[in-house]
Amino acid sequence: MRFDAFTTVQEQVDTSPKVSDEVKTTTCYMCACRCGIKVHIKDGRVRYIEGNRDHPVNKGVLCGKGSAGIMTQYSPARLRKPLKRVGERGAGEFVEIEWEEALRLATQWLSELRWRDPKKLAFFTGRDQSQALTGFWAKEFGTPNYAAHGGFCSVNMAAAGLYSIGGSFWEFGEPDWEHTRYFVMFGVAEDHASNPIKIGLGKLKGRPAAHRAKFLSINPVRTGYSAIADEWLGVRPGSDGLFVLALIHELLKADKIDLDYLVRYTNAPWLVIRAPGTAQDGLFARNDEGQPLAWDKRTSAPASAYEPDLNPALVGEVTLADGRRAVPVFQLMAERYLDPRYSPEAVAEATGIPADTTRRIAAELAHAAFAQEIRLDIPWTDWLGRRHDHVIGRPVSMHAMRGISAHSNGFHTCRAIHLLQMLLGSIDCPGGFRHKPPYPKPVPPAPLPAGHALEMKPGEPLGGMPLGFPTGPENLLVDPDGTARRIDKAFSWEAPLAAHGLMHMVIANAWAGDPYPIDVLFLYMANMSWNSAMNSAGTMKMLADKDPETGRYKIPHIIYADAYASEMVAYADLVFPDTTYLERHDCISLLDRPISDADGCADAIRQPVLQPDRDVRPFQDVLIDLGARLGLPGFTRPDGQPRYPGFYADYIVNHERRPGIGPLAGWRGAQGEKIGRGEVNPKQLDAYKANGCFWRHELEPHQRYYRFANADYLRWATQMGFLDRAEPIHMQIYSEVLQKFRQAAAGHGRLQPPDAHRERIATYFDPLPFWYRPLEQETTAGAAFPLHAITQRPMAMYHSWGSQNAWLRQIHGENKLFINRRTGEALGLADEDWVWIVSPYGRVKAPIKLMEGVEEHTVWTWNAIGKRKSAWNLSPEAPESQHGFLLNHVISQLLPPKPDGHRYSNSDPVTGQAAWYDLKVRLEKCAPAEAGLTEPQFPAAKPIPGAPRRPKLLRYGAAFRGRKEKVR
Ligand code: SF4
Repeated sequence: MRFDAFTTVQEQVDTSPKVSDEVKTTTCYMCACRCGIKVHIKDGRVRYIEGNRDHPVNKGVLCGKGSAGIMTQYSPARLRKPLKRVGERGAGEFVEIEWEEALRLATQWLSELRWRDPKKLAFFTGRDQSQALTGFWAKEFGTPNYAAHGGFCSVNMAAAGLYSIGGSFWEFGEPDWEHTRYFVMFGVAEDHASNPIKIGLGKLKGRPAAHRAKFLSINPVRTGYSAIADEWLGVRPGSDGLFVLALIHELLKADKIDLDYLVRYTNAPWLVIRAPGTAQDGLFARNDEGQPLAWDKRTSAPASAYEPDLNPALVGEVTLADGRRAVPVFQLMAERYLDPRYSPEAVAEATGIPADTTRRIAAELAHAAFAQEIRLDIPWTDWLGRRHDHVIGRPVSMHAMRGISAHSNGFHTCRAIHLLQMLLGSIDCPGGFRHKPPYPKPVPPAPLPAGHALEMKPGEPLGGMPLGFPTGPENLLVDPDGTARRIDKAFSWEAPLAAHGLMHMVIANAWAGDPYPIDVLFLYMANMSWNSAMNSAGTMKMLADKDPETGRYKIPHIIYADAYASEMVAYADLVFPDTTYLERHDCISLLDRPISDADGCADAIRQPVLQPDRDVRPFQDVLIDLGARLGLPGFTRPDGQPRYPGFYADYIVNHERRPGIGPLAGWRGAQGEKIGRGEVNPKQLDAYKANGCFWRHELEPHQRYYRFANADYLRWATQMGFLDRAEPIHMQIYSEVLQKFRQAAAGHGRLQPPDAHRERIATYFDPLPFWYRPLEQETTAGAAFPLHAITQRPMAMYHSWGSQNAWLRQIHGENKLFINRRTGEALGLADEDWVWIVSPYGRVKAPIKLMEGVEEHTVWTWNAIGKRKSAWNLSPEAPESQHGFLLNHVISQLLPPKPDGHRYSNSDPVTGQAAWYDLKVRLEKCAPAEAGLTEPQFPAAKPIPGAPRRPKLLRYGAAFRGRKEKVR
């Protein structure tokens, strides 16, 4: 008899014992992926957290962080009551106060500002999942100085995608894991899209041999996902764009591109005016209706590029009716990338990737896209009404994240990746990269950023949302002399397309009063004095710095909201203690960053599964309360009463951004019978809770591909409120928006950059993707600082949040500097030696480890493990502060001065994305006496009043097994 372990062994283990009194569904918040969870509760405490098998994001999968949510819930680092500073800033001397006093104080500070000069409030949030609310609140207050953490995370990724293909990686789209045959991953941190990517990679690895898919990882470091890649290319940091352009060079040379796709869905045939020296140069030729023109080969005449049966020319200079000369975008592109400077040989040294490898990868991509073409018999209709009986798939998919984004050339590198996908015809097709509703959006999407002088009036809401997508210099938020109107200088000539703001510049600019001083800095879960700051030590000084003449702090008031005693708490004047994610309502909204997938549209909520045992309130409730106390129109009724007396749960159900469109799309309409657009349903939250705290609508098969041109999808997206009109979305190989900025720099138009910024705008606003050496490396290249220094985010931690979690701390309680073994040995270094990591801005001391899986010119460490002594209610001897370190101390928020003395921020010149990964360093071996303690060290802040005793050994769960919980 054949042995079968599952049928022949009598199973003695009860795999599903009843462990709880009650099970409640909600959404995980231990990282940004927003998996569905089931929380098992016994005697009012969490017994166990499991993944929700019905949930569209994780389908039951729960990662280590998610299950360790228990220890985040019961962390000794939780804040317990509102706090008011009584000592000097930074000393951590507070008294506990009642909520009424805290809210009255905040209302007093904010109310005065609102009626005097609302932009003197800077309101910035961290990895906030309620940006649809926080952004709306800022608008209603009337300040343009609002953003979440995207500017120092991955705005290059978002902006480059939205200005190119109407979507992007991460929340905006995903690989078609079912059909892809070649998956390329660039610079991905393991904490982002954690479970979805693991599930996807599992699918690739589990395929039968006949349908194998290759997984290629391009990353200077081989950790996490890269460890299971079929091939790892250890690219030099900041050179990925050059490698991608070399792939494009090879594909163009071999004619391995999808011309049909380019003609139908991109602006490849659109005509670009060639009139050097004039205001029209580089703009699209358009007809009287404003439609772009292409050259129709049948009639040998220009025609609207939107005409149905056009046979457009892709090369050749043509003469328009008015005598102007023009060339198709395709020709400009081909001319640029066929240039020998993009040949595999030419890029090999800068990228560290041998020419043969580049050539082979290009051939493999072409083979997967064209020799392994997929045909699915799914009839669909395009926007011109033409019926097609099948969809073609080019099964090459890509995903990229912070390793691309966090360089000062990240915007163009990300555009280059999208260009590569367009050339292969692999966007939103079977096997390729697929959009998630509500994407794709028009390129670029609405809205425009608000904050012009005319859009701001004391006591009134801002004329629009603070963040948006400029379409030309006329949308910048600058005064007539070119001075930035926002405190972070987003949407100014220094960072024109700063769609997520520049959070890393807020404190430095506010301290310097550049472009103006502020009165109140209001932060929510943003650890801005520590791991969310460049130059952390300098930032702490700025937060505590006083004006010598007045004796007042340079930033007069700081309000901070967080659930935990992070390093930032010590610098606040007023602290609002937030609940944990298991104690509140939340809304993962389609107005913000939803949880859709390529085949369906989805959103979700959190519900309180536990009652707080401390005097804390959900920050969203506090914000709504403050809005009502301040009399903000969006938060008060005409009679002056609060508009949402039931706080956030009330707002989620009853707020309408536009008629019929609110934070949640599911179960709208009086009876819950509508989706997307519909009247308020008072029982909407009940419907979500009954459905596991999420809603999902599956698209019909004929709506799932080529959505930028799919009539049925575009109609549906318009009904849902995702689009204003059911019009096609043309992907932009060549960006006219960028060219408009360039033309302004060349002296054309009413709005031009001040002379000091002209050259920078002219250089970086290239309408076609290009590669340049990261800005800081221009000044720190060479022998003095020969090594790139970057960080990786571990799978087991999410930013600094994991550091108070007793279970996760056992995985990453300290960090080392990892060095390529050959490089380390050449420097005379061995495992566990200690080194000084020296940059032009300072030095950090750390232990090292040698390894093979890192590019030879690169050193790296885990991010956000190092902690300030005693922060997070950790012991002063905690390994995080003794043996943990941050590279932030040796990164400057400003680039070196230009000849005229001006210092630009250490950011991408197009989007303002913080360029964390441009850092260059050298290593100096420590003397034996210097080993043992990381540096710099800072004095411990005083214990927070009311903080619980810090046990030496923190355990959880023994009591559930009938043993007494032992805490020593
Ligand atoms: S991947 Fe993130 S959201 Fe999902 S279970 Fe893990 S920590 Fe929670």
